[in-house]
Parts: sequence; structure tokens; C-alpha cells
Amino acid sequence: MSDNISRRDFLKLSGLGITAAAVMTGCGPSSRYVVRHAYVDMPEYNQTGVSTFYATTCQECPAGCGIIVRTQEGRAIKIEGNPNHPVNLGKICSRGLTSVQGLYNPDRIGGPQKRSRGEQNITPMNWEDAVTVVTNGLANSGKVAFLLGLTSDHLFDLVTEITTAANSMPPFRYSSLATLEGRATLVKATEEMFGKPNLPYFDISNSDVILNFGASFLETWISPLAYSRGFKNFRKQKFGKRGYLISFEPRQSLTSANADLWVPALPGSEGYLAMAIGKIVAQIKSLPIPLMYENITISDASKISGVSETKLQEIAEIVARAEHPIAIPGGGALVTENGLQTAKAILGLNILHKNLGVPGGVYLTNGDSPTTNLDEIAKLIQEMNAGNIATIFIHGTNPVFELPKSLGFTEALKKVPTVISFSSFEDETVIESDYVFPDHTGLESFGYQRVLAGSDREAISSVQPVVQPIHDTKATVDVFLAAATSVGGDISAKIKYTDEVDFLQQKITPLLDSGGFYNAPELPTFWSKWLQYGGWWKPEMGLEIPEDNNQLSEKIDLKLPKQLSENKEFHLITFGTQMGDGHGANRPWLQETPDPMTTLTWNSWIEINPDTADKLGIHDDDIVSVASTTGGESIEVVVYRYPAIRPDCVAMPFGQGHTALGRYAEGRGSNPAEIWSSLLNQAGNLAVFETKVSITPTGKRRPLARQESKAGVYGEH
Ligand code: SF4
Repeated sequence: MSDNISRRDFLKLSGLGITAAAVMTGCGPSSRYVVRHAYVDMPEYNQTGVSTFYATTCQECPAGCGIIVRTQEGRAIKIEGNPNHPVNLGKICSRGLTSVQGLYNPDRIGGPQKRSRGEQNITPMNWEDAVTVVTNGLANSGKVAFLLGLTSDHLFDLVTEITTAANSMPPFRYSSLATLEGRATLVKATEEMFGKPNLPYFDISNSDVILNFGASFLETWISPLAYSRGFKNFRKQKFGKRGYLISFEPRQSLTSANADLWVPALPGSEGYLAMAIGKIVAQIKSLPIPLMYENITISDASKISGVSETKLQEIAEIVARAEHPIAIPGGGALVTENGLQTAKAILGLNILHKNLGVPGGVYLTNGDSPTTNLDEIAKLIQEMNAGNIATIFIHGTNPVFELPKSLGFTEALKKVPTVISFSSFEDETVIESDYVFPDHTGLESFGYQRVLAGSDREAISSVQPVVQPIHDTKATVDVFLAAATSVGGDISAKIKYTDEVDFLQQKITPLLDSGGFYNAPELPTFWSKWLQYGGWWKPEMGLEIPEDNNQLSEKIDLKLPKQLSENKEFHLITFGTQMGDGHGANRPWLQETPDPMTTLTWNSWIEINPDTADKLGIHDDDIVSVASTTGGESIEVVVYRYPAIRPDCVAMPFGQGHTALGRYAEGRGSNPAEIWSSLLNQAGNLAVFETKVSITPTGKRRPLARQESKAGVYGEH
């Protein structure tokens, strides 16, 4: 909203202000923001003390949850879930709540900068010069790379158009969270089984038994709010029925802690378990045993996984008796060498039970997966090392922190003459960059996010600014559009958008009359509703039904999980937390939120089973050296003795261990990516759970900040 506000705008604002519960739409490209003023000098139209509300989309992860932001006097005050949004129906997670701490964070980069790599030698720039730098980068079209995060989709779409126009390398997308979720593996398995490279949608609301293989769907997996909602429905079904959750995970996550039966299976053995369960279920139901499950004996599955034959029989009987048992292949089962075959064996259980496209079953979402496989990132690193990349643009991801150190991204970056980051914070990648041209944060931005896996209907979530940009930042889409206009050649000839809003409006025009819950005769009306409601979606459930095409006749070929020397080598489990891909570490609210299983705050830790710890002579708060037994790298971590983990596994949260990013993040804990194995599975997903480590006490100690009693869960003093 400009200072020269029109009478019409004034009436619109005051009318909404009086009701104090309506949702604002923004006012178009020329007056995008409500202007912030000092509280002592408020313009009349801002009606001091009265809130206005904006519908937009949370940009903290790619799930695309709808949020309503309460603003007052041009400031974002509080965020709630959008009650009408099909993904989260009014719910919000801790990461979403802290978006305001990203907006007001004292460590934000205030404007465009020229930097000396690895040093604090920073020269402020103006945006005109910044656009010239980007234009020069684009001019080298044969030697340009774009490495983007998973938000926002509109930037990805524009960059895809630019690279298509220039006939150059398409953009890469990377997120450590997507890696831990096993997204690439799940998508590949879905493509090979059902012919579409899309994420499946698991209708847990209407299932009566969930067989969960490593999906931490109540914490971070794919679309955690959608699955948390579904889980509530699963537990409280019609006629007093209550769903039964069986969870296979080597370490008890919050999801497994909510299970009726937690089964701590060996990492990498989940495929054997799925095959054994499929075989027993077929026998119980007097069905022919599918080829997919033929080559397993129950005793072998038991020996390999560490799950007793009795337990397997008990689980299979529960599944066989259920009406709509649903089997979910989650990250823990997929980020192993066996990941792709395991995903197929698990998805096959849904086919065996004829649970495709029915309530409580599996559907296919619309749209391709936006994630790049790690093998493609590895090829990009090769190109960088070979000197074939002159400019790399990095947005929405922090590869120096998030990629396994063993892949050598940081070293490869040194071979790229121009590195341009668009980060809002001085993170580990910015430190290695020549320029940083900060984008707006999510609450200051326009955009959209396609809802890929958290909604039972087609949905696109809209992003709009709820406040005026606080710093001298610029929308990266506008930067690329300005550069595309001046670079000449095919890019200038083909990229014809006047600005970011024009780009968005052209993209959503096909939705005008596409059977959404609202339609509009022309764009201005549609745009107004698009912003007011926080997106566009279909009024009723409608996802694609995967077909049963005799997939169960495919044989599953699994490798035996590696045998470890007892008490000398351990499987390293890395799990996602409220820190997300790591950028949450500079949010004090997230730092002080206790981990739901350990109550630890402000640090990272390594979980060791107390029996193992006793054998190694390790106590709570001891600092140990954790060394990769394949790569040789090591990190130091504080010990938390955790009884709910297999004795042959140790576990670490992801997101801490920053050497940059800001005052709340730096110097806290350790980053497990520094010791991750760079082994890939057949889907090109990083096989994170194939990381094996040794544990050595260092003789040092550091008390962890915990909310539970000092005595700890095992009574140790
Ligand atoms: S699940 Fe993701 S998109 Fe939804 S509120 Fe949480 S961080 Fe935001």
C-alpha cells in the first residue's frame, strides 16, 4: 500500500480492519505492501491497534501449508494455519511459527554485496550493479548452473524457462531434508511401478492399520501437518474404531513413540520384512504367493532384520485382518543401498491388499517431483571441477552445509570463477561466494508452491508479501527478469515478463476456469481471490488412481545389510528435526524448543543405547569422536544415552553444527553431513543410513541443556 492511498483502498482497509478477521489480498504490483511506520508516527489508514490478516504460504519447507499472518501497523505479529487450506486445515508447525524470526532476524543481509571468498571483506553494492553481474553470468549460457532449493516453485519455473530459452543445463534442486525423506527413491519406485514420477499420497485418515517403514510423518516427512491431521483421524474413526500403527525404525522417533507396536529393525532390512509380511499375508488369505515375495523365507527375514518370526507372524495377522491396511515406504527405509527395491516391496503390500485408489489407500499426486537426484548433483560437481561452469547461481539451499563433505562440493566451488548466492543470511555457502544478492524472506515475497503430497486434491498455494521488505532486498525473480531483458539473444527474445507479478499472473491464468473452488471471468478478479484465499484448489478429493498392472510379478533383489564388528562399528542414523534443512538453527524459538524424544535444546547430540555405552565406558554428556569407517572424517559430539535405539546403531539430529549462519546458529553442536557416506542407491538417492562409524571417548565432557530431570531416562547421575 502506498502512502498516497486512494479512498477506495482506504475504505477497503478500514472495512476489513473493523471486522479484524478478514483476510487481505494485497493491492497489485504498484502498491504491494502496507508501509511500516514508527509506532509514534502512524498514517491514519493504518488504524493503530487494529490487526489486518493476510493469507499466504509457509516457505519454511516445501509442503506448501497455508498460513494466515496477523499484521499490525505494517508489522507481521503472529502466524496461524489457514483453516481453509487443504494441506493443513488451520494447523501449523513450530518451523512455520518461527517465520517471523526469519523476517526480523538481526543477522539478515541488508543489501547486495561483493565479497572476498572465505573472508569478511565485504563491499556493499547497488541493485543496478547487481543486475549487471547477473546479466554477465547469464550471458555465458553454456557454462551457467543454477542450484535451487525446494521453495519457491515460481522461481524454479522461471529459471527452467530461462535455461530452456538458452538451451542450457536445467536447474538443479537440492535439499538435505528431501534426501533424508528418501524423496528421489520414492518417486523412482512410483515411476517404475505405476508409470508416473510423482509422489504418492497415503490416505492414512481412512486406513485402519499403518505399516510404517521409516517415515517420521509426525515430525518432518514430506508433509508433516497433513499426515498429523490424517493421524488424528486414523486414531478416531467412525463407530469408535481406532487405527493401529506398526512402525519399523532402528531408532524410536516421535512417530514410532506414538505407535502401538515399535519394531527396531536393522537399517537396510526393511525390504526383507516387507517381503516376509507379504508372503505370510498371502498365505493367511489363501492367495497365490506373488513372485515379488516368493524368494524369502520367514526365518531368513527374521535373522537378517533381528525381528522374531513370532513377531512377523503376529504383524502379518494384524494386516490380513484389516480392511484398509496401508504400507508407507519412508525415508529411514529408503536411504539405504536397498532403498529402491525396498520401496517397491513396501508399495507392493498395498497392491496385494487391493488398496490402490480407495479410501484408506494409496493415490498418485499431480505433478513431477521437484528434487534432483544426488547422482546428478555429483555430475554437476564433476563439471565444476573440470572448469566447465563459469557462473553458479545458488538460491534456497546451503550446499556447503547440507551436502556430504565427501562429495567435495566446497572444493569444486573454488574452481567456479563466479559464485552468486541469493541467501538472506551469511551461511556457509555465502562465505564461499563472490556475491550475495539477498532475496526477500517468505513473508515479504510473492510466489506459489505446488502442493505435491499433502493434499487429497489438486492445489497450488499462493505466496504474497504481508509486510514491506525490511531491508534493501530484491525478489530474485525480478533480478533474473531484469537480467533476462538486458542479456540479449534467445533469453531476451523468449522471456517476456514485465515483473514478478506479471510472471505469476500469466502462470495462473490457465486456472481461471479450471473447476477450482472459485472461478473468475477475468484475471483481476481471479488474482484478488487467489491472494485472498491463499491459493487455488479443487473443491473435492480428486487424485489419480494408480493401476494394478501385475507389478507383484517383479522379483525383488536385495543386498544383505553389512555385518558390523560388535561394539567397534555402528550404523549412523541421521534424523530430521525442527531445524529442517539447517536454516532453522538461527531461530531462537526453534533452538529452545525441546527435542520431543530427549528434551534437549540448543545443541546436537549423539544417541547411544545405554548397554552399548556401558560397554564402551561412555556416560551422559561425554564428548566422543565419531569417525566414518569408510571416509575417515570425524566429528566430536556430546553423548545422550537413549534406550530407544538398537545397540548396533547410534543416531544424530540434522541441522546444527554451523560455522556460519548467524549468532544463534554458529558454534552449536556438530553436522553429521561432514561424515556422511557418499554412497548412492539405485535411485540416485544418497544412502545416508549406509554411513558406518566408530565411537571413541575423548575424555572431555559438556553438559547438554535438557528439560528432563538431570537423572536422565536411565537414572544416571
Ligand atoms: S510443515 Fe512445512 S510448510 Fe507446513 S507449516 Fe511446517 S514448515 Fe511450514
